Amino acid sequence: MSRVYNFSAGPAMLPEKVLKTAAEEMLDYKGTGQSVMEMSHRSKEYQAIIDEAEALLREVMSIPDNYKVLFLQGGASSQFAMIPLNLMNKSGKADFVITGQWAKKAYEEASRYGDCKAVASSKDKTFSYIPEIDKNECRPDADYFHICLNNTIYGTKWAELPDTGDVPLVADMSSCILSEPVDVSRFALIYAGAQKNMGPAGLTVVIVREDMIGNARETTPTMFNYKIHADNGSMYNTPPTYSIYILKLVLEWVKEMGGLTAMKALNEKKAAVIYDFLDSSKLFKATVNGKDRSLMNIPFITGNEELDAKFVSEAKKAGFINIKGHRSVGGMRASVYNAMPIEGCEKLVEFMKKFEQENG
Ligand SMILES: *Cc1c(COP(=O)(O)O)cnc(C)c1O
Repeated sequence: MSRVYNFSAGPAMLPEKVLKTAAEEMLDYKGTGQSVMEMSHRSKEYQAIIDEAEALLREVMSIPDNYKVLFLQGGASSQFAMIPLNLMNKSGKADFVITGQWAKKAYEEASRYGDCKAVASSKDKTFSYIPEIDKNECRPDADYFHICLNNTIYGTKWAELPDTGDVPLVADMSSCILSEPVDVSRFALIYAGAQKNMGPAGLTVVIVREDMIGNARETTPTMFNYKIHADNGSMYNTPPTYSIYILKLVLEWVKEMGGLTAMKALNEKKAAVIYDFLDSSKLFKATVNGKDRSLMNIPFITGNEELDAKFVSEAKKAGFINIKGHRSVGGMRASVYNAMPIEGCEKLVEFMKKFEQENG
């Protein structure tokens, strides 16, 4: 068996230990004679799995008791609508910071439901930085303030959270959840598609403060109402059962690794291996600088499109796959989520050095 180093932005690598456990338990989950995939979601065996997944997430992220954890479907993209339907219920206003494509999509979708304002943007420099926020642009009566904490495509991350006063802060954490500790109490709502750092596609995690629940607008589809899912323990309908089971295994692995503080230290070390090389290279160059750099997604370029394409193709042959940048920006991008071992980053840099010698 030979496994590649997969630098995909998502769906992404999973810890090998998790895949092995899943394989061992595939045909017979703990003596039940069935795969988790085949289990009734109403069985006591499955209830134990979803309860454990929630308990582990609460423990690992130190989620306060006045927050609900919801296991939903529809991807982070469904949240772009679900959030305004549930939260835009007083002034009908929401403020957004446009730090990339996902932030823009969240803004555009919410604009279908109310008065949305882009209070800052980094579009002028291809989203290569996190913009300053002019407080005078922000509306104190907004129902929420939305940010995308880590910008998967452009490789930026908010180093410091914006101070939104009494306005509830909502964050898309799809590509950075579980990568380092966050103070959940700073947020009214956190959401993330699972396929970057938590498990397989098909699961969307929402962590929402209880006072944000229960005021959805009248026409909200039942399946888009947080209260329905909160009241039914994410079992109003069939949840993405297998993806939740894999999340449970991933959280067990994160705990074994030492939790989010240890995860952060490791992720900083991994990212430094790549950024340090990029900063010293004559051929390759990072597209983001300074404190706004993401720990999870590292875009870089040579400045020559043909050479970029050659690099992507040779990297693939050498076992480094999905290193091509997002189709909207070109160049390269190494996504180094929790499951990417540090050897993957070191070997990639060795390969880049060799490429530089041959092509520089
Ligand atoms: C991947 C991603 C999304 C889209 O997630 P889906 O689950 O495909 O809807 C949204 N936001 C961010 C930050 C992402 O990285």
